[in-house]
Amino acid sequence: MSIDVYNPATEEVIGSVPETASVDPAVAAARAALGPWSALPRAARAAHLAALRDLLVAHADELAGIITAEMGAPLAVARKVQVGLPIAVLSSMVDLLDRDECEERIGNSLVVRDPVGVVAAITPWNYPLHQTIAKLAPALAAGNTVVHKPSEVAPLSALRLAELVREAGLPSGVYNLVTGYGDPTGAALAGHPGVDLVSFTGSTRAGRAVAALAASHLARVSLELGGKSANVLLPDADLAAAVKVGIGNCFLNSGQTCTAWTRLLVHESQHDEVVDLAVAAAAKYTVGDPTDPATRLGPLASAAQRDRVRSYIARGVADGARMALGDGSVPDVGYYVAPVVFADVDPDSVIAQEEIFGPVLSIIRYRDEDDAVRIANGTPYGLAGSVWSASSDRALAFARRMRTGQVDVNGGSFNPLAPFGGIGDSGYGRELGVHGFEEFTSVKAIQL
Ligand code: NAD
Repeated sequence: MSIDVYNPATEEVIGSVPETASVDPAVAAARAALGPWSALPRAARAAHLAALRDLLVAHADELAGIITAEMGAPLAVARKVQVGLPIAVLSSMVDLLDRDECEERIGNSLVVRDPVGVVAAITPWNYPLHQTIAKLAPALAAGNTVVHKPSEVAPLSALRLAELVREAGLPSGVYNLVTGYGDPTGAALAGHPGVDLVSFTGSTRAGRAVAALAASHLARVSLELGGKSANVLLPDADLAAAVKVGIGNCFLNSGQTCTAWTRLLVHESQHDEVVDLAVAAAAKYTVGDPTDPATRLGPLASAAQRDRVRSYIARGVADGARMALGDGSVPDVGYYVAPVVFADVDPDSVIAQEEIFGPVLSIIRYRDEDDAVRIANGTPYGLAGSVWSASSDRALAFARRMRTGQVDVNGGSFNPLAPFGGIGDSGYGRELGVHGFEEFTSVKAIQL
C-alpha cells in the first residue's frame, strides 16, 4: 500500500510513499544503534551534525523546491525559512556540543545529562524540514537515536533528508524513517514499548492521542501543538509598523504557522483606523503559483486544509464578524484561499478561539490594558504573542502578563536559540537552543 503526495498548486500527484507495515524494525534498528551512538565523544557527534548541516547548505535550493512542491510555500519562504531555519538549528547544536558540557556541580554532586534513549519524532506538513530538524538535531546531539514519521501530506522532503543523512555518514540506525498515516503508523510509534520519548508537533487533537498512547509505557512526551496568538497594539504604538509586521506574521506560509498572530487586539478608539491599515497591507498579499517570485501567498497544503479554512470563514460571517477584506480572486486550479480580514470580532466567537491555519486575521477591540490582557489570555492556547508600544518598558510589562511560551516586543525577531513551545492546549516541553537540547536528556546525579 502506498500514499500519493499532491502538489497543492497543481493538484497533481508528484510522488508516493509506502504505508509502513510495521514500525518494529525501525524501533529495533534505533535501539541497536543507541549504545554506540551515545558512546561517541561529543566532538564526534558534533562532526556528524556539521556534515549533515553542510549537505543541507549544499542542497538548499533543491530542498526548498521539494518543500514548495509538496506543501505550497512560496519558493522564497521555502528557501529562507523552511530550509534556512533547519540549517541554523543544526549549527546551533554543533556549537552547543563544542562549547557546553551541560553539566553542573551541586555541593558534592556532579549532575550529568544522559540521552533518554529511542526518540519517536512525529511531524506535520507546515514546516516539514524545520519541524524534523528541531527534533532530530538536539535528539542526536544528546546521544539519542530517532525514528521519524513525517506527515503523510508532505513526506517527500523527509525522504530526501534520509538520503542526506546517509550521505553525511551518520551510522546506520541513528535516524530511521517510517512513512504512513497518523493512525495506524504514528499511533503504533507513539504506543511502542521500545520508544523512550515521543516528540510530537501537530494538532491538539492528535497530541492528546499521542500523550495517551505514550502513557501506556510511561514514555516521556513533548508536545508542540496549535496556537491562537494575540498581537496587541497598545494605544501609543506605531500602528502602521505594527500592522505591517503583524499581517506578515499572520499570513506567513499562507497562515499555516502554529505561532501565527491570528488575533489583532486594538484599542476601541483605534479599531477603524487599524482595520483600514490591515486591509491595505493584506491586499498586497498576491495569491498564486508558489514558484512565481511575485507570489506572497501560495496554496494551502491540501484540499482538506482549504476546505477547513473556508468553513471557518463561513462560520465567521455567520457569527456576525464583518469581513473587511475577503473577495480576492484565486487561481481555478490549486488549493487556494484569498486573504481575509475580519473586523469587529467577538473575542469569544469560534473564529477568535479556534486555530484556523489559513490566511485569516481577526481584529478585536479592547477597552483598556486589563481588558487586553484578559482577551489575549482568553483562549485555551498559549504558544506565541506580540505587543507594541512606544514605551518598551510598558510593552515588556504587558509581555510579562501574557500566558504564552513566547512574546515578541515591538517586532523583536525570531531567535532560534530561545526556548520554543507552549502551555495549555499548545502543549508542553520546549524545542531549540539549550532548553531544546535538555528536553532530550535525562539528568543523573553522581555524588563525589
Ligand atoms: P495532525 O495533528 O493530524 O498531524 C500531525 C502529525 O501527527 C502527522 O504526522 C500525522 O500523521 C500524525 N498523527 C495524526 N494523528 C495521529 C495519532 N493518532 N497518533 C500519532 N500520530 C498522529 O495535523 P493535521 O490533520 O495535518 O492538521 C490539522 C490541524 O492541526 C491544522 O488545521 C492545524 O490547526 C493543526 N496543525 C498544527 C501544527 C503545528 O505546527 N502546531 C501543524 C500542523 C497542523
